[in-house]
This record gives sequence, structure tokens and C-alpha cells, in this order.
Amino acid sequence: MSDFYGGQELLDAAKKFPADRWPRLLCPRCERGTLQAKSADSVVKVEAADSASELWRNHEAWEPDWIYGYFHGALHCSETKCDEPTIVTGEYTLDAIPDDDWGIDYEERLRLRFSIPGLRIMKMPQKCPEPVQARIQEAANLLWSDPASAANRLRSAIEELLTAQKIPRTKLVPKGATQPKRRKRLSAHERIIMLKAREPDAANLLEAVKWIGNSGSHEGTAQSEDVLDGVTLLERALHDLYDDRGKELARIAKQINARKGPVRKPRAK
Ligand SMILES: [Zn+2]
Repeated sequence: MSDFYGGQELLDAAKKFPADRWPRLLCPRCERGTLQAKSADSVVKVEAADSASELWRNHEAWEPDWIYGYFHGALHCSETKCDEPTIVTGEYTLDAIPDDDWGIDYEERLRLRFSIPGLRIMKMPQKCPEPVQARIQEAANLLWSDPASAANRLRSAIEELLTAQKIPRTKLVPKGATQPKRRKRLSAHERIIMLKAREPDAANLLEAVKWIGNSGSHEGTAQSEDVLDGVTLLERALHDLYDDRGKELARIAKQINARKGPVRKPRAK
């Protein structure tokens, strides 16, 4: 997770987190500050009707961890020059947690379901093709509310990336011995294999992202955490393909490995 944008904090936001400890999410506007609740009432909790009902509250088995509801709020960028608001909404629960003395503590926890503007989930190389960037931001917008659809958008991002890498979308196949050839669509997998000949590292990463995308398309089982794993791999592949600095470092490493020692520039005479 080393160079993943927002890293652990985004993974924390994909799960439940304590209501008074928001993950340090990056401001989607300036991408420098983090999103913060300015005051105690920046995030408002509203109890669900069942949770608040007398039927539940008077039930003989009622425990505080039956309490649940929804929240809405406005977080603001920590950079005062930016101050962009991000509107957030989701669910809250009161969770029972065992304490050190064999008793039970209760902790209010939130689960983020939607934010506008959508959060940034990746540091994109400047040269990353625009359609790829657009699909990734769509995945980010859907990440919390519909992870399976977000996984699907990652799959579309790979298709756009392969197209930008000039990998053909179709191939000619013979229809029969005497009939003319016809065009057949290449699968994402076939296209990734074609990229592998030229960019083996990036293609391997994309193959893994494709499997995560498939779990969104075909099974609808992808979780936010899975999508974020895919984002990490896709980010690495994009930097391999479009970040000149990454390529330069790989070239220097190759030279050092070949010499089994430092590469010195020839001295001027
Ligand atoms: Zn900001």
C-alpha cells in the first residue's frame, strides 16, 4: 500500500469507523488538505424510526446496540485557503465492544455511503489518458454506495487504457473455408496478453485488476475493499506506463543491476 493515494485512510473509510475519529481523507479539490469536521454539529445523526420506536425500546431483549440510524454532514478542507466543503452521508450504529474488565462499552460508529464531490482514490500521472481518468473518477464516485458498479468502472478503465496503448479492439477471423473473414471483438484478457509482449509488468497488474472488475460485473460481490485493492494495482500500472520518473528509475536500476555496482557518469576531461 506504500504509494497508494490516501492508503490506509481510504480503507478505514470503507469500513465502520468511530464517529469522533474521521479517517484523514484527502480534499478532492486541492488534493493537499484533509477533510475535517469543523465543529461538533458538522455531522448530524438521525435515528431510524424502528430504532426510536417504543416497540423496540420497550422490548425485553433491547440492548443499546439496537440503536442505529443515518448521518449527514459537511466536512471542510483543512487548508484554510481552500476550505472546500464535502457533503457526506451514511449510516451510524452503536456497537458493543468488550472492555478490559469483561464488561461492554458502546461506541458510535459511522459507515460512509456517499460524498459529493467524490473523493480522489488515486494520484494519476499527468500523462494518463483522459478517458482512463474519467472511468477511475466514476469508480471513486460509486465506491461507497455501489462497490460492484465501481469494480465494473475499473474494468472499463482497463479497456480505455488498452485502447490508449494502441492495442486493437477486434481481430479478423475466418468464417469458413470459402466465406470472407469477419471481425470479432477481442476480450479484455486477450488484449492484456497482447500488451504483455511490450509491457509485461503493467500487463500483469492489469490482469489482476481485471479479475477484480469481473467480480463486479458477473457476480456483483465486490466490496469497497476489493475495489481499493484494484485501484492500488491500477495506480502502479499507470505509473509504469505514464510516469517518466518511474521509467527513468527502472532504467537506472537495470543499469546498476547489470554492472552489479553504481553507474558513474564519464568525467569531463
Ligand atoms: Zn482543499
